[in-house]
Amino acid sequence: MPIDEILEIKCPLCGKPHRYGLAVEIITFMGSSPDPTPTFKPNICIHKFTRLFTCPEKNEEFQATIKLKETGRNPIQDVRVIGVVEG
Ligand SMILES: [Zn+2]
Repeated sequence: MPIDEILEIKCPLCGKPHRYGLAVEIITFMGSSPDPTPTFKPNICIHKFTRLFTCPEKNEEFQATIKLKETGRNPIQDVRVIGVVEG
């Protein structure tokens, strides 16, 4: 699964920052190609998703809220946590 976003979270369990790869699912509209030059300024809205993350130090799960900015014509449908990104 491709990683769309990398999110750094300060872990509430061990206090260290971890980096997680996220897969962002976008709603795509079938049958109509999106206008490449919109004449209106798109509204920027913030989507919040609460997901479970696994601490690699303690191997325990914690809950955190992800905030994603939606800037374009394609609404965000879902966000999945792929796992810890090393490095
Ligand atoms: Zn941790």
